[in-house]
Amino acid sequence: MGLLALGTPLPWNEAKQYADHVRYHGISQFLHTWNRLKDRQGDELLWGDEIEYMVVVLEDAAKSARLSLRQTEILDKLSRIVDNISSECPKSISVPTFHPEYGRYMLESTPGSPYTGSIPDILSVEANMRYRRNLARKHLKSNEVPLTLTSFPLLGVPGQFTEPYYDPVGAISSHSLFLPQEITNPHARFPTLTANIRQRRGSKVAINLPLFVDAKTPQPFVDPAIPWERDIYTEDSDAKNGAALADHIYLDAMGFGMGCCCLQLTFQACNIDEARRMYDALIPISPILLALTAASPVWRGYLADVDCRWNVIAGSVDDRTDEERGLKPLRNNRFRIPKSRYDSVSLYISNDWKNRPDYNDIYTPYDEAIFNRLKDNGVDSLLAKHISHLFIRDPLVVFTETIDQDDKSSTDHFENIQSTNWQTIRFKPPPANSPIGWRVEFRSMEVQMTDFENAAFAVFVVLLTRAILSFHLNFYIPISKVDENMARAQLRGASALGKFYFRKNVHTQGNSGPSSGSTSPVNGNGSHPVKEKKLRNCFPAPPRPENGINHEPVESEYEEMSMKEIMTGKGPNFPGLLGLVSEYLDTLDIPADELRKINAYLDFIRLRSTGQLQTPASWIRDFVRSHPDYKQDSVVSQAINYDLLVAVDEM
Ligand code: ADP
Ligand code: MG
Ligand code: MG
Ligand code: MG
Ligand code: MG
Ligand code: MG
Repeated sequence: MGLLALGTPLPWNEAKQYADHVRYHGISQFLHTWNRLKDRQGDELLWGDEIEYMVVVLEDAAKSARLSLRQTEILDKLSRIVDNISSECPKSISVPTFHPEYGRYMLESTPGSPYTGSIPDILSVEANMRYRRNLARKHLKSNEVPLTLTSFPLLGVPGQFTEPYYDPVGAISSHSLFLPQEITNPHARFPTLTANIRQRRGSKVAINLPLFVDAKTPQPFVDPAIPWERDIYTEDSDAKNGAALADHIYLDAMGFGMGCCCLQLTFQACNIDEARRMYDALIPISPILLALTAASPVWRGYLADVDCRWNVIAGSVDDRTDEERGLKPLRNNRFRIPKSRYDSVSLYISNDWKNRPDYNDIYTPYDEAIFNRLKDNGVDSLLAKHISHLFIRDPLVVFTETIDQDDKSSTDHFENIQSTNWQTIRFKPPPANSPIGWRVEFRSMEVQMTDFENAAFAVFVVLLTRAILSFHLNFYIPISKVDENMARAQLRGASALGKFYFRKNVHTQGNSGPSSGSTSPVNGNGSHPVKEKKLRNCFPAPPRPENGINHEPVESEYEEMSMKEIMTGKGPNFPGLLGLVSEYLDTLDIPADELRKINAYLDFIRLRSTGQLQTPASWIRDFVRSHPDYKQDSVVSQAINYDLLVAVDEM
């Protein structure tokens, strides 16, 4: 995650003195990128996934499943063997890379080089993911397995949930009642990030997830696993003084959130405008795919009444002070800030006519001086607002060695703020000194337990981005409704039972579908569609309607739909996201056997969206509740956890 500079990180009371310096030079660096690359054209579709794993130690005799804290050794080993594996790596698969992550039991892997839009590349995704998992597995101990689990069910349970075991009393950065210091990646950046968030905030983070109350769960539920009377750190009394709510699962450290795994996808666009168009279109999709991939119903040994990780991570890095959160009048801080730095997107940024100002309907604080500076340097209002909104945040980790940078050749200060704004979608400007273009990252999905499922979602999203661009799809709904969907997406059973706001007519002109001709990709003279052999970039901007723009009131553009309707269609005007992807596939010239493989992924997603296949969260919940050791009291025991993780590993 984020930047991994080497050096000496400053404690919060020193780091904060450089906040304006980092912001000022971060903006200078962004302006250099902007001036150099705002008109850059013609970047091809390159894209890739990031998959995170938990390394779990399974001990059959003891029936125990624990997190292995050997990340450093494992990564060392994997990087040392890279030279050897490049010779044995299949030709169709680039040598993968493994990266450190926040949790010391976590690994992240990406393909060694990005995929292109060629059909063989699209079809290599699953093999690539499988190769990466096998490679990791090969270099683990015989009792360790790399699992793609979104949340570890027993993270923070008293006793031996890690191998080796460490006591939480030593949690010097987080002061957690539950998570030992050793759970955090030892690289100086991570403990510092943890401590500086706590210090900036002025208290420990506090997350209360609603408990899933089962037939024999004591009511009210007062958690016996919280060490209520511990007295080591000043914040230890927070729990009994109101931070830990009854009938909730209380979590008090960054590790509970940043220790989760997810599936992310990054797409390079043709140019900055195409990137902004794709960014906006993916914003309303992010809660939908969060609900559809829901995979985390167990937290700190209890069944929760939610299925997703999102609010846990948002709360786990929420560095806002009491003033910023609106609990006290503003005196020392500059802004009331409605959201954590890890949260949903607050602003649409495309300059297309489709992006009506009414859609940006939530209060979004931004730094006016930075906004004006960006505007004075030629950045348009929407993008200036986006950047100056990200830049209301302080840099959390400042390294002494890199305070002074050459703003023409570095983007580190910009990235310091950018990469600690963890939103559902990320607009990624080109890095310094690299051939990479303007990119968009899709970040909401929970990681799935199998490579097939992860590949299916990756393939679905890349195809959806092409449908968006080639058909000029319009997914805009007010941001407030996207936020409402984010809240709904996390509720228990949301995918099967929930309703989500979605746009009724997704065709730009208001009445025509791809089949009616106006929006399908056409050849030079605008007549017969040309079937293409691969997924590509560089679609024209959506044309303005000939008869002028005839806007309906915003409120009549959307309605509530089920997951099944959003994915498989509702009425004659909306074929559903899967229908749109199929229409896009019809514009391609793909051999039948390759199309069959793609359709196998889409079929799986269809079955998931109709509820015929469960989300991983529902599957895990049912596994727990039907386990012979389960006492209908919301508690997930060691034995249940072991059997669950063995079942996951066998998949
Ligand atoms: P992050 O900063 O989000 O952690 P990573 O470097 O871990 O980013 O992952 C980025 C993903 O983007 C990888 O899958 C990589 O293959 C892919 N990628 C690399 N270069 C490009 C590019 N030019 N355009 C799009 N995606 C790219
Ligand atoms: Mg990561
Ligand atoms: Mg990454
Ligand atoms: Mg990352
Ligand atoms: Mg990275
Ligand atoms: Mg990422």
